[in-house]
Amino acid sequence: MLSKELEKALNEQINFEIYSSYSYLAMASYVESLDLSGFGNFFRVQVQEELFHAMKFYDYILQKGGNVEHDAINRPNQQFNDIIDVFQKGLEHEQEVTRRIYNLADLANEEKDHATISLLRWFIDEQVEEENSFSTILKKVKRCNDNPAALYMLDDELATRIFTPPTTK
Ligand code: FE
Repeated sequence: MLSKELEKALNEQINFEIYSSYSYLAMASYVESLDLSGFGNFFRVQVQEELFHAMKFYDYILQKGGNVEHDAINRPNQQFNDIIDVFQKGLEHEQEVTRRIYNLADLANEEKDHATISLLRWFIDEQVEEENSFSTILKKVKRCNDNPAALYMLDDELATRIFTPPTTK
């Protein structure tokens, strides 16, 4: 059984993961409007990853006999100055996700809810990769500044990213 407080917090995280997915869709449409289809592909994959995260919490709540609450999804930011700004905002978004996952872990620890602690450990590890992915590309796009040829090479590199659902549960 999940406590009411933890159930509510996990539901808020489902909402935030879907909001994350929607935010990355907004980033996809911005970069695709600049004809950067490889970057667009990167964000389309990110959209799927975030939905996968949402579904992982969704499945967990149901497995624990809890109720999934569907709330409104906030409007994502659609204002970007340039490609550097997109990755800066993406990195900040992932840092916010990490803070939220840590808060959930604190709550699960307080309640000594070991099953939820175990679920959140997967997300804690995942966030290391997510932040690293955004900070690495941010550094690269900064180096591409005023060098369109380098930017197009990076665009080609990002065109190869594919979504692979993690096999470990
Ligand atoms: Fe996520």
